[in-house]
Amino acid sequence: MTKPWLVALGLALTTASVGEAQTFPTDDPVIRRMWQEGMGEGSQAWELAQALLDSIGPRLTGSPQYAAAGDWLLSKYAQWGIDAEKQEYGTWRGWDRGTTHVDLVEPRVRTLNATMLAWSPGTEGPVEAEFVALPVFSSDADFEAWLPRARGRIVGVSYAEPSCRAPESWEAFATEASWASMQQQRAQGRLAWVRSLSAALGQGGGGAEGRMARRLEEAGAVAIFSAQWSDGWGADKIFDAATSEIPNVHLSCEDYGLVMRLSQNEQSPKVRLDARSEFLGDVPAFNVVGMIRGTELPDEYVLLGAHFDSWDGASGATDNGTGTIMMLEAMRILKAAYPDPRRTIVVGHWSAEEQGLIGSTAFAADNPAVIDGMQAAFNQDNGTWRVDYIRMMGFTGAGEHFARWFSALPSEITDHIELDVPGMPESGGSDHMSFICKPVPAFRFQSNYPDYRQYTWHTGIDTFDKVVFDDLRNNATLAAMVAYMASEDPDRVPRDTRLLPDTRPQGPQRTTLRNQASAAFGAWPECRPPRRSFGG
Ligand SMILES: [Zn+2]
Repeated sequence: MTKPWLVALGLALTTASVGEAQTFPTDDPVIRRMWQEGMGEGSQAWELAQALLDSIGPRLTGSPQYAAAGDWLLSKYAQWGIDAEKQEYGTWRGWDRGTTHVDLVEPRVRTLNATMLAWSPGTEGPVEAEFVALPVFSSDADFEAWLPRARGRIVGVSYAEPSCRAPESWEAFATEASWASMQQQRAQGRLAWVRSLSAALGQGGGGAEGRMARRLEEAGAVAIFSAQWSDGWGADKIFDAATSEIPNVHLSCEDYGLVMRLSQNEQSPKVRLDARSEFLGDVPAFNVVGMIRGTELPDEYVLLGAHFDSWDGASGATDNGTGTIMMLEAMRILKAAYPDPRRTIVVGHWSAEEQGLIGSTAFAADNPAVIDGMQAAFNQDNGTWRVDYIRMMGFTGAGEHFARWFSALPSEITDHIELDVPGMPESGGSDHMSFICKPVPAFRFQSNYPDYRQYTWHTGIDTFDKVVFDDLRNNATLAAMVAYMASEDPDRVPRDTRLLPDTRPQGPQRTTLRNQASAAFGAWPECRPPRRSFGG
């Protein structure tokens, strides 16, 4: 039986740690109101995330869900009295994902964990076919001799992992010898697979699986199975199809391993496949852009941004549902606590980031007045954990501004954030690059990366349950407060940029790995021309 006083004590402790921990270095009523709206009772992070991620789901560019999610954003902004619109910049290939259902029917029955890849053609109803693993080829002649076997069959083009047990489990529980032997087996197996594909296709380099899939498609295969393990328990990367006529279906790490072993050991696996999808022609490509008009300096802008599109193997919860909700919630907080900003505050929900930062590139090209008047841009695209690192991206005057802004914020929001001054510009990564290249002071709110990369980034388990709501509330409040400070700042953030070292420093480094990751050495990153269609 639970003792009532224990429950009461627990509640009291919880309340104390959440509600009363805040410190206010200033008694600024705007900051106080933002804390209430973002961290306290007023927070809508959970409700917004639940509606977007569970009910609308993933937001693949060109999908009906992306369009529905855009309408949902507009309805939220309308409800809060914030002006917002869809800014069309071109078109993209429309595609509607239907159901994917794959069963192993021989030599035994098992329903397989399968997901059709994005923009894959489907089947016309269920089809049954033998599954064959690609054999190991030593030459293109070898491959040509084998190729007729693909006709009427489903073929696996990916390497089958010998173990889908997460590396952290091997490290914790295996003997050193068996973990070392597994790593060696995996490395040799992968290398042999890559060499076999290169030998078969007569060329090496990236994209070999895709080229192989297209050769098999031409040769009359019924479908292509592929697999891309994400190196963790139950985590697989789900990207787009390589085929244009037949289904390209991803199997989970071990279900792919199962059908591959059955084929390689001549146990004649047979599969029933039912995959539905529909191509919808070209559909409008758009960003959703919202705005709270500045009162004193309406032609100067503070930009909050996060890409709105996602891959569609799951719900796009941490890539980039959390960035989306962070900026959406920040706009709600701003409107409630700071409805008449000094500078104009803009929010950009970018399209087609996953296809190459397309939406933000188009926005930067189509809105020269915003670029000219930009005070600073803040982007988030890095999963669910608390923002703990912001690099100044090589803007030499930015650190001074951040220092001033942070000195006015509650220490709960800022204490764990490392500011990297002057930092290096990045060479790629996310939508902040579409502004840095101008060069416009643009910053990325960054949080722990290794866990994100392993488990939820572009995987089939990037779902609602992975969101850490305490962090999301913290991040949304941070975005609102930083936007407020940047808007009120008496001075513009200068656009001066640092000298760049020619090459990555060699040898022992004083800087952290994070400082070095994807940094641009030698030359300032260049802007890309906006891509305005699927074929463009
Ligand atoms: Zn992303």
